[in-house]
Formats: sequence, C-alpha cells, structure tokens
Amino acid sequence: MAPQVRFSRRALLASALATLATPRIVRGAAPEASAKISDAAWNDLARQITGGVIRPPDPRFIVLTRPENLRFYDPPDTPDAIDPNAPLAVVRPRDPKEVAAALMWAEHVGLPMVPRSGGHSYAACSTIPGLVIHAGAMRQVRASAGSPMIETGGGVLNGDVFSALKNTNHGIVHGRCTTVGLSAFLMGGGIGLSMREFGVGCDRVEAVELVLANGRTVVATAGNDYKDLFWAVRGGGGGNLAFATRWWLRSFPVGKVIAFYAHWWSGDTKAILRRLVRALEASPEQMGAQMSISASVADTKSPNEIKLIGQFNGSRAKFDAALGGALTDADKYLPVELPYWDAQEFFDIEAVPNRYRETSLFADRVSDECIDEACRLMRTLPSPQARSRLTMFLTGGQINKVKPEATAFVHRSSQWLLNPILEWDQQQTPEAHMKWQRDVQDGLAAIIGQTSSYQNFPDPDAANPAEIYWGSNLTRLERVKATYDGHRIFTPPRNQGIPLSS
Ligand SMILES: Cc1cc2nc3c(=O)[nH]c(=O)nc-3n(C[C@H](O)[C@H](O)[C@H](O)COP(=O)(O)OP(=O)(O)OC[C@H]3O[C@@H](n4cnc5c(N)ncnc54)[C@H](O)[C@@H]3O)c2cc1C
Repeated sequence: MAPQVRFSRRALLASALATLATPRIVRGAAPEASAKISDAAWNDLARQITGGVIRPPDPRFIVLTRPENLRFYDPPDTPDAIDPNAPLAVVRPRDPKEVAAALMWAEHVGLPMVPRSGGHSYAACSTIPGLVIHAGAMRQVRASAGSPMIETGGGVLNGDVFSALKNTNHGIVHGRCTTVGLSAFLMGGGIGLSMREFGVGCDRVEAVELVLANGRTVVATAGNDYKDLFWAVRGGGGGNLAFATRWWLRSFPVGKVIAFYAHWWSGDTKAILRRLVRALEASPEQMGAQMSISASVADTKSPNEIKLIGQFNGSRAKFDAALGGALTDADKYLPVELPYWDAQEFFDIEAVPNRYRETSLFADRVSDECIDEACRLMRTLPSPQARSRLTMFLTGGQINKVKPEATAFVHRSSQWLLNPILEWDQQQTPEAHMKWQRDVQDGLAAIIGQTSSYQNFPDPDAANPAEIYWGSNLTRLERVKATYDGHRIFTPPRNQGIPLSS
C-alpha cells in the first residue's frame, strides 16, 4: 500500500485558491484584438476544428486557458471585467491536420498563437492575448509488453503516462507533477528522479511528429531529413520550433525502488546540508534526489527546514550503504520499498495555481563555501509577505555522458541544479522580494562561476535568457529556427523565444 505521505508543493495555498477549481464565467477577452476578428472568421476556424472554438463566456474557457502561474494572467473575478492579458479563444485540435488548420488560420487573420498542454510554464508561456492551440485532445499513450517503445500523443500529461504504464514494467524519465505536459517537458530537456541512471527525458526520444510553421507535418528522427530539427527539439524549449503531436520514447525496465523522505527542523543547517550534498554526490547513478531549504527572515530563532525526497533503484542494503548514514539524525525519516509506479504516487505533487517566480542555476560543483552562503542567504528573506526556498536537484550521472552538442539541451556537466523559488499571494508583485531572489541567484552564480539555467524553468525576468538556456548551442539552434520558422511564428511570450541573429 502506498504511504499517506504526499508532498504538495503548493499545499499552503490550496485552500485559499480552491475556488479557482470552479469555472467562472468571464468576458476576459481583450476588446481591441477581439474586435479585429470577424464572426465569419471565427466561424471559419470553428468549421475546421472538431469541437469548434471555445470563447468567453463558455465556462470551459478559463479551465483551458488559466496558467498555473497567475502572475501573468489571473482570470478576473467579475463577469464584466476586461483583462488585456486574456486569450481570445482556445481550440482543441484532435490531429496534426487540425493543428495545421489552426496555425494557418491564426497566420491568415494575423493573430499570435501559442501551443498549450498542461499550462504549467513558470512564465505562463501558453497564455497570450491571442489563440491558444490546446493539445488536450491528443492524450493517448500506447505501450505493449513486448516492446520498449512508448508512443504518446502531443497533449499527454504526466498523469496519463503514470496511468498507462502503472501495470507494466516500463518506465520513462518524468517529473513529479501529474498535470505537467510531456511535450514541453521533453522539449526543454526533462529532469526527474531517474535521470542520473537514464539521462534527461529528451535523451530517450526516438522520434517526434511535428506540425511546422508552414502547416506541414513531419516526423523527425536522428537519421532522416529532419535530423537538425530532431536535434533542436530536444532542448530547444516548448513552444519554440513546432507543434509536437506525437512522441516515440525508448522506455527502461522498472521493478522495485527505495522511495525515501527525510525532514530536518532542528540541528545545524549548514552541517546537515554539507553532509547531504557530499553523500548524494558520491552515491551511485541509481540514486535520484531533490532537497529544499526553506527561507526565513533574519531574526528567526529556529533553524531553516531541510526536506529531502528521493528514489534509489537498488536494494535496501545498497541504499543504506550509500546514504543511510547521512540521514540518521533527521527529525523524520521514511524509507520504503515500493514497486516503481507505486513510488511515483508517493512522490507526486499537486500543482495549485498561484503567483511565483523560479530562477535556476546549473552547478558543476557545489563547494562548502557555496553551501554556507546558500544557508546564510536563506536567512535574509526581506519579510514574511512572500515565501521562498532553495531547491536542489541532484543531476550528473548519465546526463553528463552525452556530449553538450549532441542535443540542444546543453547542460551536460553539472552535479546539481539549484532553484531559488519565490511565491506570494497578493496581486501585487513583491518587488523587494523579487530583488532579493535575484540577488540570491546572482550571489550563488558568482561563487559557482556559472550562469547556465534550465529552459524548463523559464525565468521571465532574466537579462539574457537565450545565452543561459542554450549556451554554446545557441548559434546552431538559431540556424535551425531560421530554417523551419524564419518568421518566428512559434515564439513564446515573456522573452522565452529562440532569437534570430540576422
Ligand atoms: C508543479 C510543477 C512541477 C514541475 N516539475 C518538473 C520536473 O520535475 N522536471 C522538469 O523537467 N520540469 C518540471 N516542471 C517544468 C515543466 O517541465 C515545464 O514548465 C513545462 O514547460 C510545462 O509543460 P506544460 O505543457 O505543462 O505547460 P504549458 O504552459 O502548456 O507549455 C509550456 C510551453 O510549451 C509549449 N507547448 C505546450 N505543448 C506543446 C506542444 N504540444 N508542442 C509544442 N509546444 C508546446 C507552450 O506553448 C509553452 O511555451 C514543473 C512545473 C511545474 C509547474
């Protein structure tokens, strides 16, 4: 039986925001842009898409367009409110032909569009004042006992994969949130607890079906005419190159794993963290882990909390030998052996829409100095008006066995991914805290001597996003972009697009 422990990342906000689960009727569309599209044009689009066009006040509109990060668009409370950030309409094409029809229609009427699957972009990149092309009608997952190949639709969510593979011995690299979309996860790289043993998610892609900016549907593989596109799509970022409608992934066999959780709320934070970092770095590739250090204001008396969750693909004896000694003084410690897919229920997190910003930093090495500085910084939160924590993902292993130039996902030498998170409840962005978070990011970057960031944790306020996401692969990525989308039809908002240098 799966244990009752669940680690809801935004559980604190769950009750406050529960009302958002109920669709509200709004007239949210920006008036000017909406007025430019004639009823005849909307009808023309509706004729081409099964299920038609969904526009306010259709109650499905909010559910299908509301982003997980409400910082950039929070559907208005009153039916009469007009929100200039609201999308105009959403369509749910059921196959590449309908995706192409929606793309061509948007181009014809001059409306920007974005693809959408799970709506979990940290920068709300799947919500713009334009047309949302939602992949949610393409959520099939096919797995067969005799073959390692998994075939999924372009709108599949993590939870669909969990359900389809639950009774099989197939696994893929995936994240912990059941409502994150698989396409964007893979297009940005894809980190998960199995990545040290099996690489990032995109390392196990065999082929992908894409609808291009010109409306053509192609299948890209490492060996066919679209090998450049295949290279670019594995790390180039969701929404950036083409619309993904189908994936073929090479799974790995799964059996039982040790799932573990440890929590410290007393003791010497720096000493605990140093010990954990060193023990995890030295552990075998079968170890996956993620930990977080909570932030507090300066005069807080109690130590900052450390939480660690992870998974070990091996025996309990080997797990204890690798990590057990580092966990014995935890205030709470729960290791349990579970079938792989039951363990994922132990880990899964519920995403509740709220306001936040996440920054990130790959680190080839986290020195003692860096740990001490991280602990110091986590005690300098300006005020309790916003919450923060520093999350640390253990990377390395098989991720680094792939050359940085082999895929557009360039981050192939790190041991850790550091991730300062800031969350707040009020409408107004807490400027002092935003500055503080940026100082934390910059301070750690200065010690580590690196600035590379994870493109799946898009930072809407980063000064040079393309450089920190794609580094030495940027020039080639720009070339592929120019070949397949020279007019930048696929351009995520908030500075998350692949630039074109000429
Ligand atoms: C709670 C939570 C947990 C997370 N956990 C992890 C994790 O463990 N590991 C990890 O690597 N990442 C994780 N992420 C980040 C996640 O991978 C990215 O935010 C991802 O982009 C979300 O995809 P989505 O489909 O849910 O979001 P969306 O907002 O729908 O899409 C994100 C971007 O991809 C584009 N896009 C969506 N569907 C398609 C498509 N079919 N074809 C082309 N472009 C498309 C959108 O236009 C947008 O630009 C997490 C995010 C959240 C909010």
